[in-house]
Amino acid sequence: MGDRVVVCASYGMNVGANTMTLAAQKIGMTIIPEGKCTFPVRIIKNYSPTGIVGSVFKLLRLARRMESEGIKPPESSIKRLIAGGESFSEEARTYLEKVWDVPVYNTYGSTEGTMCGECIKKAGLHVPEDLVHLDVYNPKLENFIKDGECGRIVLTTLLPIGGKTGNLLINYDTDDTTVVVTRDKCKCGRTHMRILNPQRESETVWVGGFPFNRVDVEQGVFQQDNMDCLTGEYEAFLYGDEDETTLRVRMECKNPESCDNDLIENNFIETFLKYKPGLQQAHIDGTFNMIFDFTESEGLEFYRVKGRPKRLVDRR
Ligand SMILES: [Zn+2]
Repeated sequence: MGDRVVVCASYGMNVGANTMTLAAQKIGMTIIPEGKCTFPVRIIKNYSPTGIVGSVFKLLRLARRMESEGIKPPESSIKRLIAGGESFSEEARTYLEKVWDVPVYNTYGSTEGTMCGECIKKAGLHVPEDLVHLDVYNPKLENFIKDGECGRIVLTTLLPIGGKTGNLLINYDTDDTTVVVTRDKCKCGRTHMRILNPQRESETVWVGGFPFNRVDVEQGVFQQDNMDCLTGEYEAFLYGDEDETTLRVRMECKNPESCDNDLIENNFIETFLKYKPGLQQAHIDGTFNMIFDFTESEGLEFYRVKGRPKRLVDRR
């Protein structure tokens, strides 16, 4: 179909990049195997790729880099983006779609397991049930839960008779949580069950008996009105003890001087507490506080730490 796709996922121990490359070749796509999102902008000019696979933040950074070199992302050859590698908020996706002016499709892969992906209908992630069996258990792994309820993803590899695999999973606990959206046929014609964007259990923290996830913080950052000032890069830290907890949210600004800090803070607090009555009460009682820092470009702590940015750090 003439698609040329830049894969930014790293090749090597990560099976995702290699598996995507093999799959793309089977359906006649050309792959440009960059392995990371810091490739030179001339790759876009010279090869005119139609798609890029990368994480939300790397695709945002690439867009800023292209702009600084005089290429407007919406005017480039890119027709769609595939986001993966970590869980993200719908607000972050909406912003990424706006920056590039193309649709962004979600994928989910567990390191040991399999890839799930969205189709053009964006109605949940398709689970490839011919390759893997996915169960959703309650948090203590005692029993299955009903479709529509949130639980832990447990995977089992399916093999045809005589088939082989490098990594066989039997009732493997992924530490990720999701909700089964439906087992009905999708409007795209596929019959796979579909799940909500999974969240990492390791990115969930508890304050006064109430949980929230890194993605909840991200949702507060990426509110539409905030994005005139912010780049989207953020980090959050939890401090305190059993009596009082403080969430410090640090956000990178395009230009700190012209930022409407009060507006951003209010948008954040309103969104963050909206569906969390327990935390809302704690906020009113003064046992849960939120403070905000607005930094200049590359002013966040994670820029000085190697490896994948840790965006929600519990320092209690
Ligand atoms: Zn579909």
